[in-house]
Amino acid sequence: MSTVSNSLSFKHGLSLWCPQPTSLNRIPHHVLSFSLASSNSSRRTYVAASTDFANENREFVIVGGGNAAGYAARTFVEHGMANGKLCIVSKEAYAPYERPALTKAYLFPPDKKPARLPGFHTCVGSGGERQTPEWYKDQGIEMLYEDPVTGIDIEKQTLKTNSGKLLKYGTLIIATGCTATRFPEKIGGNLPGVHYIRDVADADTLISSLGKAKKVVVVGGGYIGMEVAAAAVGWKLDTTIIFPESHLLPRLFTPSLAQKYEDLYHDSGVTFIKGVSIKNLEASSDGHASAVILENGSIIEADTVIIGIGAKPAVSPFESLGLNTKVGGIQVDGLFRTSVPGIFAIGDVAAFPLKMYDRIARVEHVDHARRSAKHCVKALLTSQTHPYDYLPYFYSRVFEYEGSPRKVWWQFFGDNVGEIVEVGNFDPKIVTFWIDSGKLMGVLVESGSPEEFKLLPELARRQPIIDRAKLQKASSVEEALEIARASLQVQAAL
Ligand SMILES: Cc1cc2nc3c(=O)[nH]c(=O)nc-3n(C[C@H](O)[C@H](O)[C@H](O)COP(=O)(O)OP(=O)(O)OC[C@H]3O[C@@H](n4cnc5c(N)ncnc54)[C@H](O)[C@@H]3O)c2cc1C
Repeated sequence: MSTVSNSLSFKHGLSLWCPQPTSLNRIPHHVLSFSLASSNSSRRTYVAASTDFANENREFVIVGGGNAAGYAARTFVEHGMANGKLCIVSKEAYAPYERPALTKAYLFPPDKKPARLPGFHTCVGSGGERQTPEWYKDQGIEMLYEDPVTGIDIEKQTLKTNSGKLLKYGTLIIATGCTATRFPEKIGGNLPGVHYIRDVADADTLISSLGKAKKVVVVGGGYIGMEVAAAAVGWKLDTTIIFPESHLLPRLFTPSLAQKYEDLYHDSGVTFIKGVSIKNLEASSDGHASAVILENGSIIEADTVIIGIGAKPAVSPFESLGLNTKVGGIQVDGLFRTSVPGIFAIGDVAAFPLKMYDRIARVEHVDHARRSAKHCVKALLTSQTHPYDYLPYFYSRVFEYEGSPRKVWWQFFGDNVGEIVEVGNFDPKIVTFWIDSGKLMGVLVESGSPEEFKLLPELARRQPIIDRAKLQKASSVEEALEIARASLQVQAAL
């Protein structure tokens, strides 16, 4: 049990998954620089029949076939508005899937039953139906695969694809997500053996490398780095994680909490090199990556390098809709409307008003992808007009393969601002509370029970006044959470 004073807030806004320098600031949402479409009836008309266009379904078009697109499709179906009306244009060869699986069960060692498609198509991650390619066919949803959109004509309501197709839309939803930030080619960022992980194709290439790897270096101490390093030791590979900060996941974890995870990783066989920068990646005579060279001159041998240093919102070719210069992404309002009537943006790519904390945010997390998709499509198809009111929620799960001596599953809700109270010994549970001006603002629990995890959003949403001194004296996670639960009851009675 310890108390740590921490005045740090989410320095990188809410793009915690793959934080970007562009998402550094919190912008109060009343400071939007342009006025967004104001009418709720933002559906646009469309041309019903024309041989000029390559898509048959034109009333609604979604660009991007990822997490948000899958949940949006489900919402269209639930409202009886998909059949013959909805078209999804995707860069990938697969129907929408639950992307977080790619650095979790997808990377399990081959003998530990790794996840593969069609097992994790949306919407299985939230207990929904598994939407296979056949499901889209059965629902009358037109899917265009492996053909990214490269241009838009807002006046004519048309899109151009990479293969040269011209598509027509009545209403457009942009759900293009993010792309992984790469090391420049001149420092070895494109060498064979250097990996980035954003989609199934990336994960498959990584798996074939892991099958032959001897020395793995993971660059980046965020979610991707933590998950991939945990996966690599599961393959019994010599694994080193390198990052410039002083501890893992510094945008969320306190130094004390990070230390516990670092000890666990260390005991599992991961070597840490912290507080250093990479100068370049070196290749052997066959052109394959062979070493990571640090700015301090150290040479770390590696035949497989995985870079997890963040992601950028995939805004191209939609820049003209209005980008948010602080957090990146396409600016939308609380109903996900862009500055152009009839055009919406959801998921990772959307910069939206985070109502709870009165600022603009971009959130690179699957929970937001799912909820923003639902909220946007409901607002589009029904009389729903209340603005999106998101409660930030982040989680990670690692070391979950069969036979792993210790599984890790933490959940965080709220805002990590204010002073910190940490309770528990990480054996396996620990809880961290963030308390600002006496109010409980954020809470993270490792290895909670279902009931404990269920309590967290309630606490973070209702922000009860909490007795910090009492919390500090709690002798267990269970006792600390009971104190927090009681503070909710006191608040309710007032
Ligand atoms: C490896 C990995 C692990 C993750 N793990 C977690 C986790 O544990 N917990 C968590 O909360 N979040 C996690 N995330 C983040 C989460 O997956 C994203 O927040 C979520 O997928 C966002 O959904 P989206 O639909 O906005 O974008 P995406 O799911 O990325 O989908 C975007 C889709 O659009 C396509 N596209 C891009 N440009 C175009 C174009 N011009 N034309 C057509 N298609 C285009 C892309 O190829 C992609 O298919 C993870 C992300 C990654 C990459």
